[in-house]
Amino acid sequence: MPNFESILSTIAQEVSNETDKGRVASYIPELSCVDPNKFGISILDKDGTTYAMGDSKEKFSIQSISKVLALSMAYSLLDERIWERVGVEPSGDPFNHLSLLEMENGVPRNPLINAGAIVVSDILISHLKHPKTDFLEYVRGIAGDNSIDYDESVAVSERKTGFRNYAAANLIKSFDNLKNDVETVLDFYFHCCSLSMSCEQLVKVFYIFMNRGNCLQNNNYLDLSKVKRINAIMLTCGFYDEAGEFAFEVGLPGKSGVGGGIVALLPNEFCVVTWSPGLNEKGNSKLGMMALEKLTTMTGLSIF
Ligand code: GLU
Repeated sequence: MPNFESILSTIAQEVSNETDKGRVASYIPELSCVDPNKFGISILDKDGTTYAMGDSKEKFSIQSISKVLALSMAYSLLDERIWERVGVEPSGDPFNHLSLLEMENGVPRNPLINAGAIVVSDILISHLKHPKTDFLEYVRGIAGDNSIDYDESVAVSERKTGFRNYAAANLIKSFDNLKNDVETVLDFYFHCCSLSMSCEQLVKVFYIFMNRGNCLQNNNYLDLSKVKRINAIMLTCGFYDEAGEFAFEVGLPGKSGVGGGIVALLPNEFCVVTWSPGLNEKGNSKLGMMALEKLTTMTGLSIF
């Protein structure tokens, strides 16, 4: 294994010299309050050793990163039947785009765009007794950390400005690909996006995708085939319409969120989380992407 400690310290130093840190998301009012100068990075290797730098213990809004966790739970419940409701192709469009949804009869392109995650939310609501509590317990269980929670103020803030998500949900509903009512589905979806976690917590949750479906406590959450497929979806669909660029620059499956977090992993080796709230024009964390490019270049480790 490379010397992660010294590599992380070099990366943190180099990104701190960047003057253009991107722009903090403001379309969800609560997110615009975050300090753009925050930067955290955390690595968890396959042996369970953590390496961290900067604001790695500070909680942030994981936003779309939660889509991978909702997918993982719904996939476990439905097995391959899930693909009758949502596709697995990259969209090449921004996360909140609606045109493809109309053209493709309300079956979203993939589970990591908003429309896809809304369908996944609907599936979870249909299958869970107490959807919000059960999903939270699922995430806490994987991390072995009961302090993980929703951020109600972010969920409320998003509901107030979630016009495009309401539009998507109504469109999907019109094609009969939502079984529950729009308000209930979006309430669940907004709560998932509002999950608040630090880099050090999030890296433990995503450990299962790096470690053949097993968490740090060695409980199994996913079989190998599902891990393979979820990682493939992260690689092809995890970065809005910049998935190609992320694969090109970084070379790892991963997922970003508009809260400025990015998770990425090298199967059977390590999982990494960065947090820097400033986004590039495609909605991915600017310094996060830069840091991860440096990480795979300096270590020579990527899936390619
Ligand atoms: N909650 C955000 C939305 O639905 C998620 C966006 C993201 O992180 O990609 O707009």
